[in-house]
Amino acid sequence: NAKNNSFDRYNYYEPSMEQDTQRRLHLVRRLRADFANRKLQVWYQPQVELKTKKVVGVEALLRWPQSDGSFISPAEFIPLAEYSGLIVEIGSWVIEEACRQINAFDEIGLPQLRVAVNVSVPQFRKRDFPELVEKQIEQWGIDPTRIELEITESIVMEDPDLVADILRRLKQQGIQVAIDDFGVGFSSLSYLQKLPLDRIKIDKTFVNNSDEKSGKIIIETIVDMARRLGLKVLAEGIEEQSQLDYFLGLDCTEGQGFFFAKPMPADQLICLLQKQMSYS
Ligand code: C2E
Ligand code: MG
Ligand code: MG
Ligand code: MG
Repeated sequence: NAKNNSFDRYNYYEPSMEQDTQRRLHLVRRLRADFANRKLQVWYQPQVELKTKKVVGVEALLRWPQSDGSFISPAEFIPLAEYSGLIVEIGSWVIEEACRQINAFDEIGLPQLRVAVNVSVPQFRKRDFPELVEKQIEQWGIDPTRIELEITESIVMEDPDLVADILRRLKQQGIQVAIDDFGVGFSSLSYLQKLPLDRIKIDKTFVNNSDEKSGKIIIETIVDMARRLGLKVLAEGIEEQSQLDYFLGLDCTEGQGFFFAKPMPADQLICLLQKQMSYS
């Protein structure tokens, strides 16, 4: 009967759910410890101007190395860091790292790149978030326009008016703002005219689909809309020459993806930038 069935189902699911919860709790504890022991790393993925393939910016991406040489994917540990609240501290450290790195780039005379940093909902919810960012920028004495914050539609949807206020304050300092993973959030488009944005990053699922008619329609609509709104567009996840060619044909000025470069540690990025300088 029905009662027995639901009882069976409950018995069946419970152990695996518990294992899952245990694994997550275990990961959060390890993440907290590894962060405290300075084991997390920030890697950088180039963002290029499509026409010239010149690196014009980089995206800072967290890496969590394991003792066996592997990495736990941010796709797995970022949600845990968000859920546990750890992301507030970790995210603040990523911004600090980005500022420090900009300073280091400048000291060796590298081109003045912009450094994009991902920001999570719990960070944005903190009242003192804008103040904190401003302080870090000031402490490192860097030009605020060199920093770009990448926010997602989920941040905007939480409280569009509050987000607009916070962004206006950040923009007053000169900090740049991009919408990340654009198009996957299913959120209302009306926020685009409310927010002081600089750039839209077309999500890689659309870029992946750019050889199909439906994918093209979506991409071209996004690019056209962005142009009319006066926003810049960056295509994420470019992996092939054909995708580069396609975006070159559109009014899309920048791209990021394995076709150009994968995320890499800062010292490798510095080598790449030095080579680029000696070509030009
Ligand atoms: P995201 O912000 O959209 O970052 C881009 C992701 O796409 C990165 O994955 C990057 O390695 C990957 N990617 C770039 N080009 C290609 C390509 O051509 N093909 C494919 N298949 N992938 C490409 P990653 O580093 O694994 O990060 C995943 C997500 O984790 C990020 O997505 C971001 O949402 C989050 N994340 C990473 N670092 C941070 C951080 O410091 N703070 C926060 N809040 N989130 C972060
Ligand atoms: Mg991002
Ligand atoms: Mg993205
Ligand atoms: Mg993302």
